[in-house]
Amino acid sequence: MDDQTNGDWDDLCPRFGIDASAIERRRNHVALGHEDDHAMAEICAALPKIADDVVDRFYEHLLAQPDLRGELGGDSEITALKGTLRAYLVGMGQGGTEPAYFESRLRVGLVHEARGLLPRHVMESFAVLFDALAEHFEAWARAQGKDAAPLVRSLAKFMWLDAALGVEAYQEAAASRMQTVVVRAQEAEGQLREASSIDELTGIANRRELMSRLEVEFDRSRRYEIPFVLLFADLDLFKRVNDERGHEAGDAVLKDIANRLREGTRPADVVGRYGGEEFVIGLVQTPLDRAVKIAERLRRAIALQPVNYGDEPISMTISIGVAPLRDTTPDLAALLVEADAALYQAKRQGRNAVCQDAAVPKDG
Ligand code: GH3
Ligand code: MG
Ligand code: MG
Repeated sequence: MDDQTNGDWDDLCPRFGIDASAIERRRNHVALGHEDDHAMAEICAALPKIADDVVDRFYEHLLAQPDLRGELGGDSEITALKGTLRAYLVGMGQGGTEPAYFESRLRVGLVHEARGLLPRHVMESFAVLFDALAEHFEAWARAQGKDAAPLVRSLAKFMWLDAALGVEAYQEAAASRMQTVVVRAQEAEGQLREASSIDELTGIANRRELMSRLEVEFDRSRRYEIPFVLLFADLDLFKRVNDERGHEAGDAVLKDIANRLREGTRPADVVGRYGGEEFVIGLVQTPLDRAVKIAERLRRAIALQPVNYGDEPISMTISIGVAPLRDTTPDLAALLVEADAALYQAKRQGRNAVCQDAAVPKDG
């Protein structure tokens, strides 16, 4: 069957919990008994002929509905659908205690869902099919000299059972499709969030993410009186790298330095690219003297270990301005200004330096 259902719907009965006892329960729900099986078994030989006519009438009916015609597809699709419907009709009420019967009935709902039809279309289909089938069943009973009423009632019960299974499968398929959509949307959202918070070149936090994380840590530190220190780092004479070794070399240096800053700090610390060749680090739960040592360690490691690039490593140094959160610090912006001023001081002292305060000379 050509159904474009989502997911793996191979074993429908296990999926819908249809075992021997569920089959019995569901038959009981629509008051299906063995007398109904017998009634349908009697007409079984006539079903193929009846099916041909019912299929034709059913599709004539559908094609006469302007809003449904478009859902049915082209001639070859309609031929395939007719074959499916014919198989359904020939099996009507036959083997109605077997899992295979339930499986084929569940599949009707999946096919409707996959074609974008609605649950009410499942019910409407059964209504039209019942009408055509009942007429044939009555004619058959008359020809046999039998009372048609019990046979038509048995037919009705089977069709209610089938309709219930069809709607149930439809709902399950729709819910599963929705679940897939939700998961995809969540994945896309996650990717988007990541893309908008990560600096593309260096892979560390971009300025927006950096500032938002700094705000969080700044507020938390001030509220709970936890020591917090800001480091403002700027590569020294970085423009020369671009000029002398090319922009790509500059990029490689930025990546490498960003990595070293990230790896040289704790996971809880905030590290981000503030812009160009400027990085800001928020050291959480860190007293000033310790922060200066960390800054010094970062500076020294970079100065001692050139960046590997091509045939010739690139020597690089950084300058770092240090500013601790104090009782008098009004806000994060003020702390950034202070760290930037300390950085300027480090540059003025000849670069490759850590400066703790705009007024205080280089430490170590
Ligand atoms: P100073 O020691 O005074 O900081 O000197 P500097 O050369 O580092 O400072 P300046 O501000 O003059 O130059 C910074 C350079 O950084 C200029 C800019 O082209 C370069 N730059 C900024 N962003 C990138 C980038 O993403 N990739 C590369 N390759 N270069 C960048
Ligand atoms: Mg700069
Ligand atoms: Mg610079």
